[in-house]
Amino acid sequence: TSTPPGPGDGGTHSTADEQPPHQPQAVLVTGGNRGIGLAIARSFAAAGDDVVVTHRSGTAPEGLRGVVCDVTDTESVDRAFAEAEALLGRPVEVLVANAGITKDGLLMRMSDADFDAVLDTNLTGAFRCARRAVKGMIRARHGRIVLISSVVGLLGGAGQTNYSASKAGLVGLARSITRELGGRGITANVVAPGFVETEMTEQLSEELRTTYLAGIPAGRFATAEEVARVVRWVAGPDAGYVSGAVIPVDGGLGMGH
Ligand code: NDP
Repeated sequence: TSTPPGPGDGGTHSTADEQPPHQPQAVLVTGGNRGIGLAIARSFAAAGDDVVVTHRSGTAPEGLRGVVCDVTDTESVDRAFAEAEALLGRPVEVLVANAGITKDGLLMRMSDADFDAVLDTNLTGAFRCARRAVKGMIRARHGRIVLISSVVGLLGGAGQTNYSASKAGLVGLARSITRELGGRGITANVVAPGFVETEMTEQLSEELRTTYLAGIPAGRFATAEEVARVVRWVAGPDAGYVSGAVIPVDGGLGMGH
């Protein structure tokens, strides 16, 4: 007797050999010139996708194509998309909104300027990019939007009211995009990394590092590549029915999202 097909397996049993060949996707990663964004861009490129990164100044990283973009400026975003789509030869199919900043400070002393700057880059910047990206995605009836948030968006962080609010806002953004455009083949998801081994975390004192590590069930920080692999999965064909989700990549730090 055969077992009836369960949910999710579509009733077919395929082996790795039967996987269809990888269809290269047109990917744009904001802030892809360094850090986590660069790891994400390199991961897509290594998988055979067509990738363009945005950078604010300087040049594109070695081996990747880049366009200049400041996500706090609508004209700059629109120009960057036009240039990226010219390089890719087609509209952007995968947007990874990764560009982000911190300007930490205690609430009582936080200036309007520091609060606004972080919201403008991390949340409004992602909105500007998503608004431009969906033009092509709606026409194509296919698109993947991945917003890079943070464990701090849901857990909060003392001294990070601006950053945490901006990263929490990305959840509402992804979920509203899902409700608005879920029927057009577009998914929007949030990837929420915990501590990641970057230049920033390398500079932590041994004492602070030990304190942070004590709160992480995995007992270590993530590598940028571990974040990149999750982003690639949620942007890929296996995650077509995943939308409006918050996917933590935090070693268990933020359990309870
Ligand atoms: P980095 O500081 O290394 O890189 C940030 C990137 O964003 C840079 O490419 C930077 O460009 C770009 N950027 C900043 N402001 C703007 C702007 N106005 N317009 C366009 N690009 C801009 O950060 P990380 O790689 O550490 O972080 C990447 C993302 O991951 C961020 O959203 C961050 O909040 C999030 N994150 C990071 C964690 C960590 O442990 N590092 C943990 C959880 C989330 P430029 O080079 O020109 O400055």
